[in-house]
Amino acid sequence: MRRVLNAVLIVVIVIAATAMVRFAGFGAALDRFLLEARFLADERPVTGEIVLVEIDARSLEQLGVWPLPRRLFADLTDKLSAAGARDIVFDVDFSAISNPENDALLAEAFERAGTVSLAVFRQSATAGFETGEVTNQPIDELMNVTWPVVVMVPMEKDSRIWRNLYGFEIDGTAELSAAALLGEHTGSTAGAFWLDYSIAVSRLERISLVDVLQGKTPPGVFFEKKVIVGASAQELRDLFPVPVHEILPGSMIQALGAETLLQGRALEKGGEWIAFTAALAVFVLLLLLTNVEGWAVKTAILALCAVALELVAISLQKSFPVIVPTASAHFVLLMAAASVVFRELGLHKLLSHIATIRQRNSERMLGLVFDDSFDGIIVVKSGGLVSAANQTARTLFQCDDLVGRNARQVLPAELVEEALAVLAAPPAGKPVPSIIEAAQIDGKRRFIEYVVTRSERTIANSARSKKVRTQAVACLTCRDVTLERESVERLSYLARYDAVTGLENRNGFEEKLEQVIVSAQATGQDLCVIQFAIVNLDQIIASLGFSYGDQLRHAIAVRLKNHPAQKAHWAAISADVFACVLDWQPDLEFGVIETVKQVVAEDYNIEGARISVQLNFGFVVTDNPASAEDLLRKSGNALARVRRDSQSQTLAFRPELDEQLQRRRLLETELFKAIGRDEIHLAYQPLVDLSDNSVIGAEALMRWHHRELGPISPMEFVPIAEENGYIVELGAWALNRGMKEALSWPSPLRLSVNISAVQFSRGNLVATVKEAFERTGFPSARLDLEITESLFIDDDLDLEFRMQELKALGCSFSLDDFGTGYSSLGYIPKYSFSKIKLDKSFVRQSISNRQDITVIEAVLHLANGYDMSVVVEGIETAEQADKLRQLGCQIGQGYLFGRPMSASSLSAHLANAA
Ligand code: C2E
Ligand code: MG
Ligand code: MG
Repeated sequence: MRRVLNAVLIVVIVIAATAMVRFAGFGAALDRFLLEARFLADERPVTGEIVLVEIDARSLEQLGVWPLPRRLFADLTDKLSAAGARDIVFDVDFSAISNPENDALLAEAFERAGTVSLAVFRQSATAGFETGEVTNQPIDELMNVTWPVVVMVPMEKDSRIWRNLYGFEIDGTAELSAAALLGEHTGSTAGAFWLDYSIAVSRLERISLVDVLQGKTPPGVFFEKKVIVGASAQELRDLFPVPVHEILPGSMIQALGAETLLQGRALEKGGEWIAFTAALAVFVLLLLLTNVEGWAVKTAILALCAVALELVAISLQKSFPVIVPTASAHFVLLMAAASVVFRELGLHKLLSHIATIRQRNSERMLGLVFDDSFDGIIVVKSGGLVSAANQTARTLFQCDDLVGRNARQVLPAELVEEALAVLAAPPAGKPVPSIIEAAQIDGKRRFIEYVVTRSERTIANSARSKKVRTQAVACLTCRDVTLERESVERLSYLARYDAVTGLENRNGFEEKLEQVIVSAQATGQDLCVIQFAIVNLDQIIASLGFSYGDQLRHAIAVRLKNHPAQKAHWAAISADVFACVLDWQPDLEFGVIETVKQVVAEDYNIEGARISVQLNFGFVVTDNPASAEDLLRKSGNALARVRRDSQSQTLAFRPELDEQLQRRRLLETELFKAIGRDEIHLAYQPLVDLSDNSVIGAEALMRWHHRELGPISPMEFVPIAEENGYIVELGAWALNRGMKEALSWPSPLRLSVNISAVQFSRGNLVATVKEAFERTGFPSARLDLEITESLFIDDDLDLEFRMQELKALGCSFSLDDFGTGYSSLGYIPKYSFSKIKLDKSFVRQSISNRQDITVIEAVLHLANGYDMSVVVEGIETAEQADKLRQLGCQIGQGYLFGRPMSASSLSAHLANAA
């Protein structure tokens, strides 16, 4: 019952839908399509009763004029009559008067022929034959002797000519159409009939007008024939769009109409409802039929029905002049097929099929994303079964078949425990990443960062059941962070340890010191912090390269670590300084430092190079350590002091060192301001000829009288200025000031100015001296530059060159403080000094010491050999002066002859002496 009701409902819907389709014009269009196909599928011969005389392009060309003179048509009519034509229809416009003579000739010819019909039409009849504006008919003169025939053709919605008229009412009189006349139609003149385009109009006899006029027609061609005279030339525009042939001239359409009627093929539409009902019946039957299963079978049946319906329509049209419009029936069958597909497949099935495809696509895409993910992803179900794992996870855990395995067997225990915990109870708050050390691969440590999240998925209770339940899964996202971890560890290692020696660096040592201090404070233990520096590390690196420097430091660290004498904690606190902290045992005293010195100072053999190290030690011992920084500063101060003052190699921190250091810092800052504040001046100490005690020159000695600190010795501030480079400015100032003041002396004495080694290495001494000469006008020959042996410690090639340049300017060199420093004498001949100044340390209370006398004699001997004079410094007593005079010394300097004095005092001194 339900099925029947459904069927009825569907039938109603189908009828309504069909009506809509027809209303929209789709039905008529399909019908026309099918009708044209049927025409094409059939071909009917022509009767041969109709002959066309065409005003074709050739006729126009040969006759050369349009409209043709009517006498030609008269001639044509006569010729056609003479040839036995039965009926002559002119589809030619004779509605205008041409010339009375020709018109008369034509009228006479028509009259003679007797069976001539002329075209009558309504001007607008091509658009719609029911209405028309103007009746176009031949002039009366011609109408009187002929029959009118209608030649308009109705146009369908597709702008083609499918039908022809039986006739038309013109001016109240029903007139036959040309087709009806020639087709011997005897019935009503009303209405139209469908043309049978299966009649082969192309086979109609068609003769060119010009051929008829010239008598070139085959004999008997017009005999007893119905002749239509009409235009086929394109220029005359009597052409219409038609089915099957695309375009036909109006006269041909009339000829086709005549043939259609003559052959009894005036087509009528019919059977549409029968076809529609039959299709509907098939549809209903299929709906009700239960024993035909499957949408494919049913649609096949429907397709066969459609084909059968069309075959019946074709054969009916072939046998009878009937057109069966089957479009509605086909539409019904199509809808039946659609409904079968939907019913059988079910709309929801179709939609779910589409959804499945979409889901499959998105699953495939997600699968790709999942597998290509940079992170390893593993899904674990409750119970610990791995339900999914991507490629990265498989690689990460070195397991190709993670899926389906128990997580406990294949994943690190911490990870599994966390996953199971998350499954058991949803975690509160955001998941936090953790790092675990995973099983080693190839002996290398591996660190894996992971995060566990919980998600719930919906699953069906069973394959057939619609009921669903939710299942919690744990999702493990993990990545290998070994490299990051290692670099973090390396960074934190480097923050505390020295990369080359593996010992703690300054940071690490300070931390260690703090700990040691805390426990020392608790136990009352005295602490000792020792620092030692590899004094010659820079030279070693400069001559052998950095890699030797590194290897040396490493080797020193190895010796320190392996040195069992004392339980000391060693660190490498800077490139060349090592430090240690140890519990101070009073009885050990310097013994510790001595053993370390022995162990470390022994020569090193690095890549075949024998390396000797020079070591300086500074240390601090305290029973009340303040802080790590304090201990490092104090031991560092002691070391710095040793490094500056090479008299000893080891120094313990004393509170004065701190004070000295502070004073040194203070002087350093104050010194920069000294010239500007005019606190610097020069004192001059006379140099005398020992033979007669006459003053031969003076040495300029720098003096600094600080506004608050008072006089500061050059022994104190010159080394500071040398260390920070300010000596370059100070030295230049001394040169200029010395020359300027010496010019005011009463006699042209020699001037000695002290020059520091730093002035050679950092400043442009040659330019400075040259400028001073130019600025002051001091004669260069009176200048002695005093330099010390320290200048020759480094074998500097430039030095020789610069000294030559200075000599070229005119000045001389004195070798100051001779005998105190450098032991080599090889440089003396090389640099050709004019004077050697023997250091005051050789001039003791009474020069009785045999060794001193030997040295003095040797120096005198050396000086003689190289044509140099000897100046003896520090002569304080007449006794010393006598003794030196006896030994053969020529020049002396010392308090005996005059203390360093101001320029004005020197001038007064010289004036007194004179
Ligand atoms: P120096 O060039 O050897 O100067 C001689 C030092 O010996 C001077 O000390 C002088 O005052 C001192 N002296 C002279 N006669 C006697 C004596 O009979 N007995 C004793 N005990 N000492 C005597 P001063 O002026 O303190 O200078 C010390 C050093 O400072 C100089 O030694 C020199 O190396 C340096 N100096 C001084 N002025 C300058 C300067 O303008 N430039 C540079 N680069 N160094 C300078
Ligand atoms: Mg000097
Ligand atoms: Mg000196």
